[in-house]
Amino acid sequence: MTTDTIFALSSGRPPAAIAVVRVSGPHAADALTVLGGKLPEPRRAALRWLRHDGALLDEALVLWFPGPNTETAEDMAELHLHGGRAVVAAVLAALAKLPGFRPAEAGEFTRRAFANGRLDLTAVEGLGDLVFAETEAQRAQAMRQFSGALSGRADAWRSGLIEALALIEARIDFSDQDVPDDLVSPALHVARELVEEIEKTLADEHRGERLREGLTVAIAGPPNAGKSSLLNRLARREAAIVSPYAGTTRDVIEVHLDLGGYPVTLLDTAGVRESEDPVEQEGVRRAKARAETADLVLWVVEAGDSFLIGRAKERSDVPATAQGNEDKNQWIIHNKVDLSPGRAQLKDQKREFTISALTGQGLEPLVSDLAAFTRDALSAAEPALVTRERHRVALRETAAALSRALAVGGSGQEELIAEELRLAARALGRLTGRVDVEDVLDMIFRDFCIGK
Ligand code: GDP
Repeated sequence: MTTDTIFALSSGRPPAAIAVVRVSGPHAADALTVLGGKLPEPRRAALRWLRHDGALLDEALVLWFPGPNTETAEDMAELHLHGGRAVVAAVLAALAKLPGFRPAEAGEFTRRAFANGRLDLTAVEGLGDLVFAETEAQRAQAMRQFSGALSGRADAWRSGLIEALALIEARIDFSDQDVPDDLVSPALHVARELVEEIEKTLADEHRGERLREGLTVAIAGPPNAGKSSLLNRLARREAAIVSPYAGTTRDVIEVHLDLGGYPVTLLDTAGVRESEDPVEQEGVRRAKARAETADLVLWVVEAGDSFLIGRAKERSDVPATAQGNEDKNQWIIHNKVDLSPGRAQLKDQKREFTISALTGQGLEPLVSDLAAFTRDALSAAEPALVTRERHRVALRETAAALSRALAVGGSGQEELIAEELRLAARALGRLTGRVDVEDVLDMIFRDFCIGK
């Protein structure tokens, strides 16, 4: 099978000062020689006039990265062009005409890096998260994943497991020979320790996933209470339509916030009220669904409207999370305090805030408590290793197989135990995308049986 040489604009959308076009594959050098003439020194920037079919395309800084020590492990080239739309288009068109060249598909450079063993799966995911990270905490987590926080741990666990497996295999294969009788207990000991470690890793309250996705804070409450106004205040921009007419926010509006480095997705839910209008009913349905899964609900009422707070506690159409202000996941926001200034004197209680979305009064304590809430929910002394459901599934499978091995227990059951340990090692292999368990096993087993 011949490998295509792929190319793509790797920098942001033109126009920009500079556009970087990357090329990877067996003919990558052609991009530089056909368009730019002489191949530059490896990994040294060189200035070249790029020409094609007699036309001068651009003056560019070009780089040549011969494989296999490149990101994709293939020959690679980079063209740093002037970032105009037409410049980029002309160069991409010229590359497309080179034999064996074709535009890259989404993620194809990284895919090749994975296929060629330059990155494991968790690093690929970390790279993806790094590109999409919006806040400092997300960036730091993505970087940890990219640099092998989870895969390093998983690899260490897997080697321990494979050693344990080798002990048991020896017991099976040489049962008639002079090997120590009890090779099973040390193996089970390793398995027990591993289960504990994996379970500890999994008991992280899903912080990694939540940090990736951002904490969700739903703004709910009766129509006209000022939910959209509050959202706009918090987002410091006109994200939702603020209107003096009730029931105009018919859908869920999302705004992404960076609160002290932690991501928060604010949801402005449609005014919760009964309605005949099917569009509005749909809005209300979605609002309830989102608010139910939100990490925090800001229940907005007009200051002094204790009737509505009371109703918030007992109404069946209010999401469970929004019922009762005893619930730590609901804060009551008394809005429009500017209309009844006497209320401003009310001392803010815990989880109750008196504000004016219009004037901004009282917003500071709310924002700082929100930031603290977010930090508490997403940060911990130990950064989370599990950042995706996929990781969780693989680790749960590993732990389950190990637990089954432990349940079998005792000698005489070597075959069964070995099988469960093998399943556990394979599940861990899936985590990093390395599933060559048998190969590693063979190698270790050979070492173990020196002299046989
Ligand atoms: P929603 O239906 O809960 O989203 O409420 P909106 O944010 O659309 O606000 C409804 C109306 O109340 C609009 O006319 C806003 O300008 C007004 N409003 C919102 N917050 C305040 C406030 O703090 N003070 C005053 N005086 N008016 C407000």
